[in-house]
Amino acid sequence: MLLQQSYMFEIMEKEDFEEVVFSQDKANNLKVIVAIHDTTLGPALGGTRIWNYRSEVEALKDVLRLAKAMTLKAAAAGLNLGGGKAVIIGDPGKVKSEALLQTYGRFIQSLGGRFITAEDVGTTVQDMKIIRTETEYVVGTKLDPSPFTAYGVYRGIKACLEHVYGDKSVEDIHVAVQGLGKVGGELVRLLFESGAKVTVTDIDKDKAKRFLKMGAEYVEPSRIYSVECDVFSPCALGGVINDSTIKRLKCRIIAGGANNQLESEKHGDLLAEMRILYAPDYIINAGGLIAVAHKLQYGKLSKENIF
Ligand code: NAD
Repeated sequence: MLLQQSYMFEIMEKEDFEEVVFSQDKANNLKVIVAIHDTTLGPALGGTRIWNYRSEVEALKDVLRLAKAMTLKAAAAGLNLGGGKAVIIGDPGKVKSEALLQTYGRFIQSLGGRFITAEDVGTTVQDMKIIRTETEYVVGTKLDPSPFTAYGVYRGIKACLEHVYGDKSVEDIHVAVQGLGKVGGELVRLLFESGAKVTVTDIDKDKAKRFLKMGAEYVEPSRIYSVECDVFSPCALGGVINDSTIKRLKCRIIAGGANNQLESEKHGDLLAEMRILYAPDYIINAGGLIAVAHKLQYGKLSKENIF
């Protein structure tokens, strides 16, 4: 497929993107797009996502939306960082290799520090360590930001409860969690610790098993939207609040860790009309970024000194 330059520049101008860089390395199966949205406040920091996109256009749309959200997230959290993101196209279980990550690391290095990366969906702390062998512009090699993200989401849920119900505590609520990865899994653990009722789902059913042992209920991925609950917590991918899902929601609050939960701005207005409180993703899921920024600045951190 040929992407016309006029198409790319139109998008970049409209959304104020500074730079979008494509790179490929056939020998190592690397196809990557890095989007640098805004570096006014500092270098663009954003995770590297490896995902089996259905098309290059889908990957491009994802990286652009994610990068812009990172600008908002860093600014809202008061950090001296800009917004960027990287996506590597491919099934992480198939394309990810040491050689791919090293080649990718060299590419990040070539950007000269305008983009600093970290883990995201499809990448791990171990992957960041491999990338680190080729570039200094990577964080999260010693620190997994996910527990901090999850803790921020947990605290955000509590703030939403206070806003909607006044004095209802976590032990009296029912939360439906979509996605049981690094963030969703830790969030479920925190919710259980506080005595909440939890319904979970994941496209990888094996991940759900350990939560069923804790007492969670499981529903098929397509049924999570219609679970009658206090809080729906999207912790998988973006765009989950859309024309087809919004009609099925039976919750009072949406508060989760996933980036770009609303497919478009109009879905935020619709939620307000439906009197469903929506915790903006780039605020509620900023815990991991705050932790990483703190580590960059001070060299050490603990949950206590960032929350
Ligand atoms: P992860 O890859 O560890 O987990 C994602 C999980 O979602 C996987 O278990 C996957 O199987 C599941 N999933 C994917 N599609 C699904 C679907 N349709 N239905 C149900 N489950 C599905 O990723 P993560 O690090 O936990 O991140 C989750 C979300 O939070 C992403 O949107 C990410 O961008 C966002 N986020 C993560 C962090 C962080 O610190 N890790 C920080 C901010 C935002």
